[in-house]
Amino acid sequence: MLRFGHLIDGQTRDGSRRLEVFEPARATPYAQVADGTAADVHDAVTAAGRAFPEWSRWPAERRARCLERLADALEQRAGDFAHAESRDGGKPYALAHDAEIPRAIANLRFFAHAATQFASESHHGQAGLNYTLRLPLGVVGTISPWNLPLYLFTWKIAPALAAGNTVVAKPSEVTPATAAMLGALVRDAGFPDGVLNIVHGRGETVGEALVTHPQVRAVSFTGSTAVGRRIAGLAAPMLKKLSLELGGKNPTLVFADSDWETHLDTLVRSAFQNSGQICLCGSRLLIERGIAHRFRDAFIERVRALPVGDPMDPAVRVGPLVSRAHFDKVTWAIERARAEGARVLCGGGPLDRPGWFVAPTVLDGLGPDAATNREEIFGPVVTLQSFERDTEALALANASDYGLAASVWTRDLDRAHRFAAHLQAGIVWINSWLVRDLRTPFGGTGHSGLGREGGLEAMRFFTEPKNVGLSFEHRLL
Ligand code: NAD
Repeated sequence: MLRFGHLIDGQTRDGSRRLEVFEPARATPYAQVADGTAADVHDAVTAAGRAFPEWSRWPAERRARCLERLADALEQRAGDFAHAESRDGGKPYALAHDAEIPRAIANLRFFAHAATQFASESHHGQAGLNYTLRLPLGVVGTISPWNLPLYLFTWKIAPALAAGNTVVAKPSEVTPATAAMLGALVRDAGFPDGVLNIVHGRGETVGEALVTHPQVRAVSFTGSTAVGRRIAGLAAPMLKKLSLELGGKNPTLVFADSDWETHLDTLVRSAFQNSGQICLCGSRLLIERGIAHRFRDAFIERVRALPVGDPMDPAVRVGPLVSRAHFDKVTWAIERARAEGARVLCGGGPLDRPGWFVAPTVLDGLGPDAATNREEIFGPVVTLQSFERDTEALALANASDYGLAASVWTRDLDRAHRFAAHLQAGIVWINSWLVRDLRTPFGGTGHSGLGREGGLEAMRFFTEPKNVGLSFEHRLL
């Protein structure tokens, strides 16, 4: 059995209590992770508080070099990290190796550069000269989910550290492997002890202790809307800065004039990548009526052909769901869809093999008010709906409390921009999906969260602006 411990003040701590960590492709435990306590969080926050004055005084270049060295170390062991990510979360090895671990490396490098490029505003006018200082906050907490474990873990710690904060990070207890492995590289990368601390364990214990710790100045959270709400409830009375990246129920709009046949693989990927366990996956496909039947048949044929199976097999595109609890939730959601009157066009339940596998499932026959079309399922389950006119398409797309992402497939440029402006979403892709520029604002509206990550948005979140005014007399010299 592997063991994953905390990283507190530069030391690995095993903890007296442990949780089992499962391999989803086999539904068997393969490791144990420390089940952290409020005392562990307190020790980590205290260490981070001690490390803050020195770390925040370091020149940005020196902090950036630590992040670069951590990226280098991760890159050297990218294969091991991809293997661990795949085993821990059940995601296809190819996805971990080709996309997620490279993205984790890119996150560290991107914010290393951001540290040295970050600048603040100045305002020159009748009120003299005003300039803004952007000061690190102090100790900050990050809480990340299981679906893109190292990718999202690094997406938070990198800007926090780059901006001069010290960090207590809580990875998901469901997928702790790669965060623990990264923790082992931190010291050699040159980070002083206590600058980055990692406390493993459950949300109700470690997560809440972190959110409510009086010394933690800000919390950056990615996860479900329900937990985001809980965190907001705990943090708001303490007046903490919060970034909440939450769930989604994203629409994919396919118009008759689009090159949908050429893009069919991307459209299938946008629905089923990582078994649909990506907050950006399109789970509601809205198809213009003129092509609805042709699209449905072609789409289903591709979905049926998706190689599902052992995530270590390089040919596999769809692995298992991450946990027993999530498998139960997704299979229950499929049953609820049936009860709501959905027609199952393909898939429709678990696969008859060990592990938490659910067949890629396509449903139709449900309207925008059905719970299946309103609530996040976060699995390999999508619905098809059709529309006649643009106004109907927009109304269907916006029939959601969420507002994270949308993709629009059309060759009509006017329509593409009109939809981009009116879709209720923080992110809109036109004729593409999940193509990311790390400088762009990332986040959602409504029940999809508060605030934006990425680029300068993240650097601004992790700093406090302070205005300094110098007034002087305006007269000709
Ligand atoms: P989750 O909310 O159950 O858990 C996320 C993290 O929060 C975990 O580390 C968990 O231990 C912790 N947590 C749980 N309860 C807590 C509490 N009371 N206080 C503090 N922390 C607590 O989410 P999940 O199941 O791990 O992830 C799936 C969800 O994440 C989906 O809803 C998905 O849409 C969302 N997600 C959103 C984005 C985005 O960028 N918007 C990205 C990825 C995933």
